[in-house]
Amino acid sequence: MSRRTILVTGGAGFVGSHLCDRLIADGHDVICLDNFFTGRKKNIEHLLGEPRFELLRHDVTFPLYIEVDEIYNLACPASPIHYQHDPVQTTKTSVHGAINMLGLAKRLKCRIFQASTSEVYGSPSVHPQTEDYWGNVNPIGPRSCYDEGKRCAETLFFDYYRQHKLDIKVARIFNTYGPRMHPNDGRVVSNFVVQSLKGEPITIYGDGSQTRSFCYVDDLIEGFVRLMQSPRDVTGPVNLGNPGEFTIKELAELTIAMTGSKSKLVFLPLPQDDPLQRQPNISIAKDRLGWEPTVPLRDGLKRTVAYFEKLLTENDVMRDMPAARSKG
Ligand code: NAD
Ligand code: UDP
Ligand code: UDP
Repeated sequence: MSRRTILVTGGAGFVGSHLCDRLIADGHDVICLDNFFTGRKKNIEHLLGEPRFELLRHDVTFPLYIEVDEIYNLACPASPIHYQHDPVQTTKTSVHGAINMLGLAKRLKCRIFQASTSEVYGSPSVHPQTEDYWGNVNPIGPRSCYDEGKRCAETLFFDYYRQHKLDIKVARIFNTYGPRMHPNDGRVVSNFVVQSLKGEPITIYGDGSQTRSFCYVDDLIEGFVRLMQSPRDVTGPVNLGNPGEFTIKELAELTIAMTGSKSKLVFLPLPQDDPLQRQPNISIAKDRLGWEPTVPLRDGLKRTVAYFEKLLTENDVMRDMPAARSKG
């Protein structure tokens, strides 16, 4: 594979930092762009001494003129508590960010990847979700800045594809977890693992019967790279996720069992518009990319627990982390 210069927006975030690792390991030059809203230098500090790695502090809502061979556009907060903190900025990041990165790709005539999301399906009435399902999304609710922002970004990608013949790759990512999730991120896996390790109550929103399908981050990154390297006619959208579906209560019980925790379950109100079920149909990824996840939830959780165990013994994190935040 030829050595390329690759831009990763949101590269200091949870998923982005793993992608930077993979691209550096594959022998590429990586420009990691981030505004550090939810990302952290700590996630990429081990790459700072690498001559093929470059860190760029920048906000994707502003134009960017650089020279690269490929773009992965991941910049966008992904956790509900963070994307709802400044919802206008979230929409701007998805929409203006997509326009700027598409403009950059158009000028450079380079391939561009979009990190879209299973949230484009909203609270789905088709189950498992296939890519031809148009979704059930509230356009004016608290999750809309993220859901509709990502939907509009997909629209832009396909309009640049049709109108300007851009070489696009759109991945619809389902819930992904693993090391480098922020302990205060607010998403369910990091919350439950941190709560279990600290012996604090496990915060279940609603009755815990809602489902999610959890993909380990290494599997996801393999899917990204395969999609990016796929033939030009594979534009997506392609679902990338692990079809293993669990209720949130099952996840809580598994986490408690795996950590040997004494934590008790507490039930808090279900947030508005929280999807009741979610499971990817990954037939397209299997057929066109030869991809499917290989890490079962139990194994991935074990690695994630080991990461947070180490993190919780580090003083700096203990100071700014009285408890995993709850949004209930
Ligand atoms: P994250 O919050 O850890 O990472 C997002 C990164 O983008 C952070 O480093 C943040 O600082 C950066 N960022 C945010 N706004 C920016 C801006 N305006 N300009 C520049 N940088 C900005 O989240 P993640 O889980 O790593 O998600 C990465 C991408 O994958 C996101 O686009 C997200 O929507 C998508 N995604 C993730 C999941 C998941 O389960 N992790 C699921 C579906 C989609
Ligand atoms: N853009 C950018 N870098 C580039 C080229 C364009 O950031 O190398 C931005 C620019 O701000 C523009 C947006 O991308 O507003 C969309 O570019 P496009 O060429 O599609 O639109 P136009 O410039 O014609 O409005
Ligand atoms: N959730 C929960 N307790 C928490 C955090 C989340 O019960 O401490 C629930 C949340 O209501 C949702 C599911 O877990 O039903 C997944 O939430 P997350 O924020 O991780 O992802 P998303 O809702 O975006 O899929």
